[in-house]
Amino acid sequence: MTAMIGIDLGTSNSLCAVFEDGQPKLIPNSLGSVLTPSVVSISEDQRVLVGAAAKECRVTQPERCAWVFKRLMGTDRKVEIGGHVFNAPELSSLVLKSLKEDAEAYLGEEVQEAIITVPAYFNDNQRNATKLAGELAGLNVRRIINEPTAAALTYGFHDRGAEKKLIVIDLGGGTFDVTAMEIFEGTLEIISTAGESMLGGEDFTDRLLGRVLKAQQIQLEIAEVKHPLLVSRLRQECEAAKCTLATNSEAIIRIPDIQGKLAEDALTHTITRDEFLEMVDPLVKRLARPIAKAVRDSRIAPTDFHSVILVGGATRMEAVRDFIRSFFGVEPLCSHNPDEVVALGAAVQAALMQDDKAVDDMIMTDVCPFTLGTEIIKEFGRRRVDGYYFPIIHRNTTIPVSREEIVYTADPNQRQVRVGVYQGEGRKVEDNLFLGELEVTGIPPGPSGKPIHIRFTYDLNGILEVEAYLPETGKKFMTVLTQHAKLDSRSDINAAVEKLQKLKFYPRDDVKNQHLIQFAERVIGEVSPFQRDDLEMVIDQFEQSMASGDREWFERARENLLTILAELGFCYDEDDQEFSP
Ligand code: AMP
Repeated sequence: MTAMIGIDLGTSNSLCAVFEDGQPKLIPNSLGSVLTPSVVSISEDQRVLVGAAAKECRVTQPERCAWVFKRLMGTDRKVEIGGHVFNAPELSSLVLKSLKEDAEAYLGEEVQEAIITVPAYFNDNQRNATKLAGELAGLNVRRIINEPTAAALTYGFHDRGAEKKLIVIDLGGGTFDVTAMEIFEGTLEIISTAGESMLGGEDFTDRLLGRVLKAQQIQLEIAEVKHPLLVSRLRQECEAAKCTLATNSEAIIRIPDIQGKLAEDALTHTITRDEFLEMVDPLVKRLARPIAKAVRDSRIAPTDFHSVILVGGATRMEAVRDFIRSFFGVEPLCSHNPDEVVALGAAVQAALMQDDKAVDDMIMTDVCPFTLGTEIIKEFGRRRVDGYYFPIIHRNTTIPVSREEIVYTADPNQRQVRVGVYQGEGRKVEDNLFLGELEVTGIPPGPSGKPIHIRFTYDLNGILEVEAYLPETGKKFMTVLTQHAKLDSRSDINAAVEKLQKLKFYPRDDVKNQHLIQFAERVIGEVSPFQRDDLEMVIDQFEQSMASGDREWFERARENLLTILAELGFCYDEDDQEFSP
């Protein structure tokens, strides 16, 4: 059987897992870490860097880097980095390609099949953009599953005998999801889901960043344009301070100069936990609505949930935990690492799809996160108004599902009807997402009010089949809506694949060295001018040695670089490939 991997394609970090020897296991990347930062950069010599090396580059050359692009999935927005223009699926595909290569190195075989997770609250455009990203990376995306569902699969896998009502609260870098579910004799039933695709840990960092800049009398929007290096370095300081405040009562933020450099006597800004809590309070309050919606739709009282499970790095914030504790009246549970549960659950899903014996007592059902419907005309007395939304499959209906409704022709002798297909909760179709349409033709002449049966069938892959049936003629019309992403024709996809292939993908064996260079370049900004000269010289030699192919020279140059970094106080831990401070 060919391997099928599970991928958590996150806003901040991505992870990859596989089901092996009856267990889901995380796959380390070439740096030995299971977390690959979802950051892409294009180096000056047109190499694509992904992950830790690109993240280092984000501080020194933000204009060559892209990050948080998951937030652009399903939109037309483009990002220019290093002279190349990418859309979000293309950038995501570079991250997926890197994970695919890590999985191939780990498993020792080619990997083509994958399951990718998305926030439960991603709409069809965003889901299809994710599927497209997988395809661009050379993966056959067998299923897109919801992140909280994947997290619940991990808990369900390890706790199969349980009979429990669970709620998963997933606050990642860029998105927020809430999913209520029930586990009963190995059956995992998703009951309701709600969320916000524009709320995550990055917003908390941005609040802090805005506050620190304001204290320096600098406006964020202006600084982003005028002093991008200052902003990117300061954002990194704020990100670290945010994490420090999860366990400490205060954190010190160093203020870089406009070149993004941190001098030894750099100004500092101390932030206390209370100040942080007060500044992020509006964000914490935004968690309430999706939680209340998912709880209401589940028809389970908040205090009746046996476990409240935390997923996503941003749930480590005390402010978030306090809020959840007070909402549900129980201590939230995170017995599995919140960064890892989603990818592990995706691997469990892969095992389910491959009929692995280790999961043959598990069954999972999911729900459709949004209402799906069509457009109708309403009559108010003698006035007719079009553009009204007519739901066919209601949100949080268990899937797969097939539902039929009857609509009627509006005019005498009406020969055709356009069945618009929409997704969302708005009363009018203009407030919902247009997915596609189906033309019903050949209606025989006659009075108005002729029935047309419209059937929507929605499956676990998010594929929507729309069928219309004219009882009078016995004719059926059908369309399948799967690809709503902007790149939707085969030739567009081929062109995108070709474009990505033209970029030189940095070989995995060299990623460690590239990471070392990126790190050393970042250190340049933190040392005195005379130390800088020495460091630059050693970095230059290291780069030349890599290009030379002379192993001895290369090893000597690498050793020199590590030594000078250590002398400057930046140590390299050979085991976990981490640098300090
Ligand atoms: P994820 O998308 O699940 O990887 O979550 C990433 C988000 O979690 C980022 O915004 C991180 O800053 C945030 N995060 C990770 N660790 C912590 C921590 N200890 N305290 C606060 N936020 C954290």
